[in-house]
Amino acid sequence: MAQPTPARVHICPACDGFGSAAVTLGGRDRHGHLRTITAHCPACHGTGTRAVRPVSALVRVGR
Ligand SMILES: [Zn+2]
Repeated sequence: MAQPTPARVHICPACDGFGSAAVTLGGRDRHGHLRTITAHCPACHGTGTRAVRPVSALVRVGR
C-alpha cells in the first residue's frame, strides 16, 4: 500500500540519517563505563537531515 503523504524530512545522503555515532576510546573508566566520544556527520552536523532547497528547485512539471 502506497504511503499517502511523502516524507517531509530529507535524510542526509552522507550518513543516511544517522547523524552522530559513539566511538569507543578503548578501556573503561573507574566506574566500569565504556569510554566513548560522539562523532557528528560533517555534512549535516549531527542532525541526520539536510537543508531543504527552495521550492523552485524542487518543483518539476511533466517529464
Ligand atoms: Zn549527515
